[in-house]
Amino acid sequence: MKINPWGSELIKDYEPLFNEFGLQHVTDEMRERFEKNREFRRGIVFAHRGFDDYVKAADEGKRVAVMSGIKPSSEFHLGSKLTAEEIIFMQKEFGAAAFYAVADNEALADNGMGCEETAPLAVSNVADLLALGLDPDNAFVYKQSTCLPVLNFAQLAARRTTMATLEALYGHQNLSLYLAVLTQAGDILQPLFKENGFERVVVPVGVDQDPHIRFSRDLAAKLGYPLPAAAFHRFFRALNGETKMSKRDPDSMLSLSDSADDVKRKVSKALTGGRSTVEEQKKLGAEWRKCVVYELMFYHFEDDDKELEKIRTQCETGKIMCGECKLKRIKKIQDYLKKHQEKKKKLMPKAEELLEERACGMEAD
Ligand code: SF4
Repeated sequence: MKINPWGSELIKDYEPLFNEFGLQHVTDEMRERFEKNREFRRGIVFAHRGFDDYVKAADEGKRVAVMSGIKPSSEFHLGSKLTAEEIIFMQKEFGAAAFYAVADNEALADNGMGCEETAPLAVSNVADLLALGLDPDNAFVYKQSTCLPVLNFAQLAARRTTMATLEALYGHQNLSLYLAVLTQAGDILQPLFKENGFERVVVPVGVDQDPHIRFSRDLAAKLGYPLPAAAFHRFFRALNGETKMSKRDPDSMLSLSDSADDVKRKVSKALTGGRSTVEEQKKLGAEWRKCVVYELMFYHFEDDDKELEKIRTQCETGKIMCGECKLKRIKKIQDYLKKHQEKKKKLMPKAEELLEERACGMEAD
């Protein structure tokens, strides 16, 4: 079994990942402690590496950080939203300092997009992050291409890495992707660099990114850093239900910049668990487990568990047909995005300010 961070395949069964790659289960105790957080409560965050040690360190009052980032190759999509919400949760829950890498070097490596193309997307992405609730006073937002300590670390990491290791983790890739991997290890470990002085870092991330986490943990062990922890979330399926959402196919996903018309057009075509005729659906009910429209509510747009239960009940008892159900969910998403986009507009200048070139890292206390 291989996990490909750049691929579009869905993982149908998550269970083998625990045995094969040594992921740790999110325990009931963790779920209870963090039940206010939608991702933990609903099992969207389902696995981790070393998150228990991270929590312990935070409880003991150690300086902790949370690290993640975005490749500025498109507008913020729902996968980026999930990660952003987890960063914001760690900031609030543990007082963690947030390190957010705008991976413009990776956009060049993976998508061939130069900085002129990615710069406006980077500002837009960071404004989305702020509108979702990031506290900019406890955050360090930076572009990979301007962060010398991270770029220097990639050189150091290259000295400690063989091609065999990279091929075993990622398969045959071109050298620019391997370089992006080395740089990303620098992003992940940066909070632990002496000049930043954090004692633990956690990376909230989709489980498809686990090869980066394993690679960074191996490097950390070789270089004498504490191992970075990770909290993994499940994939959100593309709207057609068949693949992972992909930035390369804008119609496969919703973005936080979508207009009301975009939402209507995309969600109207999304996969449901509806039956082939109205009569059949009235008699048998529909199958919300197969339905991407239900997943949109579960993962993103319905915080209230009772409302979710209502959707399930109406669905499986055939009380509502998919057409009517979709219209209600479309309205909910349109309302959410309208509010978000109003907030984001006001935060664009702050995003620009955060991305201005400046010294890299956060001062140690
Ligand atoms: Fe999905 Fe709603 Fe249809 Fe059920 S009724 S399958 S939740 S669209």
